[in-house]
Amino acid sequence: MQEYQLYIDGELSDAEGGKTAESINPATEEPWARIARASRKDTQRAIAAARKAFDQGPWPRMSQADRARILVQIADGLDARSQELAAIETQDSGGTIRKTAGDMMLGSAQLRYFAEMAEKLPLESEIQVPQFPAQSRNYILREPMGVCGQIIPWNFPLMMAVWKIGPALSTGNTIVLKPASETPCSALELARIIDGTDLPKGVLNVVHGSGTECGEEICTSPLVDKVAFTGSTEVGRRIQQLAAGTIKKVTLELGGKSANVILDDADLDLAVDGSLFGCFYHQGQACESGTRLFVSEKLHDEVVARLVERAQLLVCGDPMDFTSTQGPLVSARQRETVLGYIEAGVEEGARIVVGGKAPAYPKKGYYVEPTIFVDVKNGMRIAQEEIFGPVLSVIRYETIDDAIRMANESIYGLGGAVWSRDKDKAMGVAKQIRTGTVWINDYHLLSVAAPFGGYKQSGLGREFGLEGILEYTEIKHVHVDMVDSRAGHFWYGSLFGA
Ligand code: NAP
Ligand code: MG
Repeated sequence: MQEYQLYIDGELSDAEGGKTAESINPATEEPWARIARASRKDTQRAIAAARKAFDQGPWPRMSQADRARILVQIADGLDARSQELAAIETQDSGGTIRKTAGDMMLGSAQLRYFAEMAEKLPLESEIQVPQFPAQSRNYILREPMGVCGQIIPWNFPLMMAVWKIGPALSTGNTIVLKPASETPCSALELARIIDGTDLPKGVLNVVHGSGTECGEEICTSPLVDKVAFTGSTEVGRRIQQLAAGTIKKVTLELGGKSANVILDDADLDLAVDGSLFGCFYHQGQACESGTRLFVSEKLHDEVVARLVERAQLLVCGDPMDFTSTQGPLVSARQRETVLGYIEAGVEEGARIVVGGKAPAYPKKGYYVEPTIFVDVKNGMRIAQEEIFGPVLSVIRYETIDDAIRMANESIYGLGGAVWSRDKDKAMGVAKQIRTGTVWINDYHLLSVAAPFGGYKQSGLGREFGLEGILEYTEIKHVHVDMVDSRAGHFWYGSLFGA
């Protein structure tokens, strides 16, 4: 059994009263790690450490070059242990080793991007203000926001941690990171790596605790300046309400029910495999998954036949085995939720053409077969609610306008795709879908260099790209007046003028 402690104020430490929780390996259904479980008090200790590191420590006052150097140290530390961390992530989350090995490589590359960006950020610029006296200069400073509470989900545990800490560190903030209860281990490994770098103590704190205790403490504490959250829309709403008490800055990456539109001139070899990847990657446990597939009446039967044929090639199996494409879902609870939605789809009159249940093999583990529904109406629950599992809904459309209208009939707007050989036509459709990312002839391709986030109830603010990094800064205007006589100032006349 692996053992993990909390990371607070530069020390690996036990939780108050020695409280621990076990992490279950979703493929074996057995506990595999024991982790210190933070109480509200432990969380307060972590917040106080981050506050002190921000108010009194060297970090917010350090040069961008020094911050960049430390981010590179973290990336190097991750690279040195990437294989080991991929195996840890697979045992903790059920993600296939194919995926987690890729995540580790991407994670370190992304930290290097944030290091590179640290030195290129427009943290000080001058603006011209015609209304002000000619003898004045006006500067816009971007300063760190302060203490950032970062609450992350279980689907991409290490990547989520990197996506949160990278931009916050590159702009001089201090952090309390709360991983999901189900998957805390890679974030705590990252803390161990960081413990061996020059990051000043207290800058990064990692607390494994429940959302309702530890998470809510972060959202309500007057010592926290910003909350960055990724997870469900329901919890996002709660976080925004809690953060309102102290007007914390909030960024939210929430749920999705993304539309994937195949146009009649699409390359079907590409569109069919790409659509399966769009929905079944990581067992459908990605917020931007393309879970509603819009196909014209004309192409419907051919596309469905091809989807069924290709979906049967996907392999549910031991996630540690490189030949498995589908691992288990993260937890027994998540599997129940997904199977419940499959039942609801059948009850509402949709028809399963492939999958639909837990597979006979592997015998253990929280697996669900890749499942495709046809005869789905866009108003059905399986087409409107985020399932977060391997369930694809195929919906017929008559005209492209019809497809666009249905694509937009959703409370969400996170991802989506258009498949077509005509780039201009595809772009025309992409522009009409109200969503934060549209792929044309691709899916799931995210980069920390391009902004990512949600329209509508899929979120608030952006992650990645310059836009995402600047979400971790406050804006200060400094006006320098160089008018040398007091009579030349606008206020002189108003107080002392004749
Ligand atoms: P969740 O409940 O939204 O949890 C995400 C994170 O928020 C976890 O760290 C969780 O802690 C924490 N949290 C929960 N309640 C909180 C509260 N009241 N105050 C502060 N923090 C709180 O997501 P989930 O339970 O892991 O999954 C539920 C559904 O969310 C999924 O089925 C899926 O639809 C959606 N989801 C979306 C994304 C995404 O990337 N957009 C990712 C994962 C899940 P605990 O782990 O301790 O609960
Ligand atoms: Mg939860």
